[in-house]
Amino acid sequence: MRPVLNAECGMLPFKLVYSDAYYLPIGEHVFPAEKYRRTRDRLIANGIAEASDFLEPEPASDQDILLVHKPEYVQKLTTGTLSPREEMEMEVPYSRDLVDAFWLAAGGSILAARQSLNDGVSISIGGGFHHAFPDHGEGFCMIHDVAVAIRRLQRDDKIHTAMTVDCDVHQGNGTAAIFAGTRTASSLLPSVAHSTLERPSGMTRGGKMRQAHAGDVFTISLHQHNNYPLWKPPSSIDVDLPDGVGDDDYLAWLDNALSSGLRQFEPDLICYVAGADPYKEDQLGGLNLTIDGLKKRDALVFRVARTRGIPVMVTLAGGYAMDMEDTVTIHSNTVVAAKEVFAR
Ligand SMILES: [Zn+2]
Repeated sequence: MRPVLNAECGMLPFKLVYSDAYYLPIGEHVFPAEKYRRTRDRLIANGIAEASDFLEPEPASDQDILLVHKPEYVQKLTTGTLSPREEMEMEVPYSRDLVDAFWLAAGGSILAARQSLNDGVSISIGGGFHHAFPDHGEGFCMIHDVAVAIRRLQRDDKIHTAMTVDCDVHQGNGTAAIFAGTRTASSLLPSVAHSTLERPSGMTRGGKMRQAHAGDVFTISLHQHNNYPLWKPPSSIDVDLPDGVGDDDYLAWLDNALSSGLRQFEPDLICYVAGADPYKEDQLGGLNLTIDGLKKRDALVFRVARTRGIPVMVTLAGGYAMDMEDTVTIHSNTVVAAKEVFAR
């Protein structure tokens, strides 16, 4: 018999947020809508979580959605009057049920964000729709659940500032656009866009780090440069990674971006977008991370947040592995990594 580690037994020291209605009714699609339920089932089957660790979210209210999205866009969604072009750009087939699923994802992110303020961390087994803009959806994203959660907690005076840490393989263009749009004349900083920082030690191949920040939400995006979206509005920090980056280089860039961001900005909340698509066998990604490397990535974000005492809420975002079971493993490992870091 081996000794049972504390992190391997009993209830989680934090809450998971999940609903069967997270399922996106989009038919045959590269986005594996089944992954949410499969991830929940895997967590239970492997004894990582118990049923009592899960909280069921309520849908966000229209008021919540309107904290981020334009009234005209919200009206088109609720009345089913998107133009064919707008629907095509979203890349998921419009339906009233799909609208409900996105409102629920936003409610789940609000709940996870609130919960993280109590427990240090909380993970929604859904969400992370970082390609949604105030006035349109794209890249499988209708509503920016993470931005809605940030704005709702700010409105409730629970937080004043937040930092998004987006590790999906695709740049967080919606996030960058939403939080750049709130920059005011008084908070504009001298432009430092396109300054290239020194490469972190140990780096062997060139990525590029670009910085420009103003406002109450600091946005970090680590992504494959040569991938969707073609137009990448500037985040506070963008790390443009070349094709094929592996575990070690990726972790060095992430470490560097987190250190740099947290030197410049003190967030009340970190919103970690834990995309599974930097995985080497992803159909829509061109990086070369292993399943183990992705778990180390999650652990790094959690260690930094815990060490600094900053609550962290997590959403899953993308994941299109050739074998869906790998995507489910990567998402489950995010919970395992949080359990290991926060159980100590
Ligand atoms: Zn993605």
